[in-house]
Amino acid sequence: MNPVALITGASRGIGRGIALALAAEGHDLVVNYAANAAAAAQTASDCAATATAAGHEIRVEVCQADVADGIAREKLVAFTREHFGRLDLLVNNAGVAPTTRADILEADEASFDRLMNINVKGPYFLTQQIARWMIEEQASAPASGNPPKIVTVSSISAYTASVNRGDYCLAKAALSMLTPLFAARLAEHGIRVYEIRPGIIATDMTQAVQAKYDALIANGLTPIRRWGTPDDVGRAVAAIARNALPFSTGEVINVDGGFHLRIL
Ligand code: NAP
Repeated sequence: MNPVALITGASRGIGRGIALALAAEGHDLVVNYAANAAAAAQTASDCAATATAAGHEIRVEVCQADVADGIAREKLVAFTREHFGRLDLLVNNAGVAPTTRADILEADEASFDRLMNINVKGPYFLTQQIARWMIEEQASAPASGNPPKIVTVSSISAYTASVNRGDYCLAKAALSMLTPLFAARLAEHGIRVYEIRPGIIATDMTQAVQAKYDALIANGLTPIRRWGTPDDVGRAVAAIARNALPFSTGEVINVDGGFHLRIL
C-alpha cells in the first residue's frame, strides 16, 4: 500500500514541487488548492505521469479548500479520510504574501488579518485535526518503521525583518512555533514534526520582486548564488517522508542556499 500525503496549496509553486517529489517516490496524494482549479488538475496529472515514469502506480485526488476556513478544513480532512482512509504525511504549505507590500508605518489591519488567518490559523487548526486522526491511527495500528509526519513550510521571514511586509514576517514567525509545539505533544504517539524554512524560491509569489532578488543574489545575498526552486523544497520534504531523520523531531531544515549563515 502506498503512503498517503496531503499537501495544502499544491496547485502551484512550492506545493506543486513537493507533490511532484512525493509522487516520484510513490506517494498517493491529496492536492489541495484555494481557487485555481486548472492548475490543481495540471499538478495532479503531472504527478501521475511522474510516478508512472518512476515505476510507481499512485492515486491523486484534488480537493478545493480554503485553509483559513474551519468548515473547509473539516471538509478537506473528511475528503482525505473518505478517499484514502489513512494519512502518513501532512504538508502545511499553503500561504500567501500581502496583496500589496506596505511600510509598517502604513500597513492596514485587513492585510494583517488575511495573512494571520491563512498563514497561521489555517495550518495550526488543520494540524490539530490531523494530529487527532494520526493519534487514532497510531493507537489502532501503530506505524512500524516509518512514523506519520507533519511538515510545515515557514520562511526565512520567520527571523528576517522586511519592513514593507511586517504582517508576513509576523505570520511566519508565529508559524515557526507550530513545529516545536506539535513535536513536543505528538512524540509520545510516534508522530514526527518538522519545519522546512525556504529562502528565495522562484514561484508566482516572488515574480513581482524578481529583478530586486536577481540583483541581491548576484551580489552575494545567498552563499549559493542562485534562486531556489520548488524542486529544492520538494527534495527536502521527500527526504523527511522517507524517514531520513528517524531520531529527530521539531527540527528546522533550512532550504535557503545558506541565507541563514552569519559570515565574517
Ligand atoms: P504561490 O506560488 O503563490 O502558491 C501558493 C499556493 O497556495 C497555491 O497553490 C494556492 O492555491 C495556495 N493557497 C493560497 N491560499 C490558500 C488558501 N487560503 N487555502 C488553500 N490553499 C491556498 O506561493 P509559493 O511561493 O509556492 O509559497 C508556498 C509556501 O511557501 C507559502 O507558505 C509561502 O509563504 C512559503 N514560502 C515561499 C517562498 C518563496 O520565495 N516563494 C519562500 C519562503 C516560504 P491557488 O492556486 O488555488 O491560488
